[in-house]
Amino acid sequence: MPAKQRRVALMGFRSVGKSSVTIQFVENHFVDSYDPTIENTFQKTLKIRGQEYSLQVIDTAGQDEYSILPQSYFVNIDGYVLVYSVNSRKSFEVVKFVYDKLLDMKGTINGVPVVLVGNKCDLATEREVPFEEGKRLADSWKVAFLETCAKEHHSVTEVFTQIILAIERAEGNNPDQ
Ligand code: GDP
Ligand code: MG
Repeated sequence: MPAKQRRVALMGFRSVGKSSVTIQFVENHFVDSYDPTIENTFQKTLKIRGQEYSLQVIDTAGQDEYSILPQSYFVNIDGYVLVYSVNSRKSFEVVKFVYDKLLDMKGTINGVPVVLVGNKCDLATEREVPFEEGKRLADSWKVAFLETCAKEHHSVTEVFTQIILAIERAEGNNPDQ
């Protein structure tokens, strides 16, 4: 079977760890300071349930509640990873905003593959968003939810497995069989 080409974008407020999650996934190391203004596309091949995927990962420069999202975020992207950090309630509000923008642009979010990610779960004492709240939001959107720690490579690969599975389901395939 040839590799399937898929493109996913990481979106969310600045400083939540979009670049850190991406770079842990693609290069297996933690970057402590990465230019927050850069938007970059990374490539990685991974195999899920026997199928190879050539994944392009678009690490966006980040959004806030005033962002006007460029058209390029809506075309040729198969799935969206919406990232907040568990120590920032503001970033949790921003993912809701980004989700609503996606909804506006796509007309209906039904069938738009999304995974919700709460990063920095190592920062227990600074936590502002309980696990249950993230889970509840993801349930209301009917999408997968994960807490990650890019710093320790915790659940990072799982994010990309989940988005690919969501893309497969949206395409009418049943990867769960
Ligand atoms: P971005 O603006 O969303 O791309 O965020 P970055 O990936 O640049 O990360 C912002 C800051 O948070 C950097 O100082 C990272 O080192 C830090 N960071 C990212 N992920 C984690 C994590 O899982 N745990 C902790 N403690 N810090 C993190
Ligand atoms: Mg970044």
